[in-house]
Amino acid sequence: MKPLSERMTLYMDAGFPILYIATFEEDKADRAIEEAAGNREVVEWNVRGLLFKQSKDKVDGVTLPEALGNFANPNQTGSEKFAKRYDLRRRVLVLKDAQQFLDAPDVVAQLKYLSERIVSGQLTDANIVIIAPRTCIPKELEHYITILTVDYLSTEEIRKIIVRFCEEQGLDALHEDFLRELALAFKGLPEFEIINILSLALADNGEIGRADLALIHEQKKQLVQKSGIMEMVPLKERIEDIGGLENLKAWLKQKAKVLKNIDKAEAFGVDLPKGVLIAGLPGCGKSLNAKAAAALFEVPLLRLDMGRLMGKYVGESEANLRQAIALAEAISPCVLWIDELEKAFAGIGGGGGHEVTTRLFGTFLTWMQEKEGLAFVVATANNIEHLPPELLRKGLFDEIFYVGLPNPQEREKIFSIHIGKRRKKDLAGIDLSALVKETNGYSGSDIEGVVKDAIEAAFTQDKPKLTTEFLLSAIRNTASLSEIMKESIEKMAKVYQERHFKNASIS
Ligand code: ATP
Repeated sequence: MKPLSERMTLYMDAGFPILYIATFEEDKADRAIEEAAGNREVVEWNVRGLLFKQSKDKVDGVTLPEALGNFANPNQTGSEKFAKRYDLRRRVLVLKDAQQFLDAPDVVAQLKYLSERIVSGQLTDANIVIIAPRTCIPKELEHYITILTVDYLSTEEIRKIIVRFCEEQGLDALHEDFLRELALAFKGLPEFEIINILSLALADNGEIGRADLALIHEQKKQLVQKSGIMEMVPLKERIEDIGGLENLKAWLKQKAKVLKNIDKAEAFGVDLPKGVLIAGLPGCGKSLNAKAAAALFEVPLLRLDMGRLMGKYVGESEANLRQAIALAEAISPCVLWIDELEKAFAGIGGGGGHEVTTRLFGTFLTWMQEKEGLAFVVATANNIEHLPPELLRKGLFDEIFYVGLPNPQEREKIFSIHIGKRRKKDLAGIDLSALVKETNGYSGSDIEGVVKDAIEAAFTQDKPKLTTEFLLSAIRNTASLSEIMKESIEKMAKVYQERHFKNASIS
């Protein structure tokens, strides 16, 4: 992606009337605007009033509707000074703190009027730029507004910030490997936050060391949380915690080798891994695989909640998605886990009410097709029946796997994993084959539930250990997934076969 200032210049030159920068980093947006504005004057409105950056002229206390009204009609007073002050030609009007007022009818009307005058060429070389932490665009302004996302610092830029900080503080130069690791860990954070963390680390024990990585990680988690649409998931599950699904696990291990040696792999001609779609029955390990993949790749896991993407304003959903993508790319290498893909993209092409979803889908498709960064996508879906065919086309994801109900060998492994986690010493005494025989049609999640129930029963009955009998009794009290979802399981199995998805298990 081109730097923000370059993208702004392009849009400004092409006469796009309003640019909307969704960010809470106002300083960074300010710098980009200055660059893009060139020798045109930047005029800023914020809650305190108007500030003319070149002339340093100030009008305190003017409200947004008043300010816009003046720019819309600079000749209203007949005063030459007033007309000159509010002439928007060859100027960039920056609106800060405007988010809460954008809904007001007079603000909408004035912005629309000014936009039309810019588009028609009456206000030459004029632009309006809105800087706001969230995207909320009234429908009436949709045609005039272009949303831009800020760019994040590259690893190289972060390195320079760290090196400069160490020099300024008179610290010894950091070891090259640690510097690389530190720069990677900082990815996604803005400069002021990087400096804050470095200062905090230094104040804590007088040096910057490995222990400070935890601090960075915590800060990053907050950054992701603040975005409101993603969360950073703690990595507790490992690939060894998955029973069965050997095909999928082997595939992930292969990708891990590529991702961990990306420079060598690329030099060898290996394509950059894009991601995987894991579809299948609930409770059969899809989420588990997303988590285990991140642990295996040794990168952070970002979970994107498709439901939360949908905003109430026009363009908000796409802007949210673009923001999430930009953040994931900034934090990359990472795994971007898109959960319940079908919830966002089901029913596309239905027309009418699906307009937003269709545009959201377009944004996602374009990103996946052109993706270059190291944000590896793990998309999971329960039901692919209503997913648009473009999503399932070969090439968008590196592979599509389907996870079905575990076979007998897999059930045995899942039992031993979950018993082993909780009652390792009892495992040798359990008749696993008896459990396997009684659990045809049970999902991994059902099996975990059985193990938990059995252990609780043994404890509450004051027994010293877990026995096969407790487990068999818990099985009898648990309705299997295939009993609960019989019809839809059969239907789905057919769809997966028809579409030739790879089976995650060795059959
Ligand atoms: P959903 O669509 O309902 O989210 P899912 O396929 O993502 O389902 P998971 O969340 O991965 O299911 O599984 C639920 C729990 O069941 C897991 O936390 C894990 O403990 C257990 N489980 C499922 N499959 C397996 C498996 N193959 N091996 C070990 N545990 C499993």
